[in-house]
Amino acid sequence: MNFCEGCNIACNGERCPKCGRKKLRAVTGEDFCLVAQVDRIFGDNLKDRLEQENIECVLMPYGTGVNSKFALPLESDLLYVRYKNLDEVRQRLKDKNF
Ligand SMILES: [Zn+2]
Repeated sequence: MNFCEGCNIACNGERCPKCGRKKLRAVTGEDFCLVAQVDRIFGDNLKDRLEQENIECVLMPYGTGVNSKFALPLESDLLYVRYKNLDEVRQRLKDKNF
């Protein structure tokens, strides 16, 4: 599995699916990888749940530039977890097991 440091995306291919970069390095268990875009309220709950289980996660505000410009609350976050937790968290999101 490879890892794009620009996008924090783990991917199988030689090229990052998001930015197209080709100089990827091998992912390590500690790398924070993008899981999904989640809405703000769900993301906050999710973070609490994961932290209770000692799974580290990072939420990055994701929104349009217009929202930022007018200092409106952004409505969604990008969720990142460490690569070693990625499969588990992804599967649980799919199963809505949060
Ligand atoms: Zn990339």
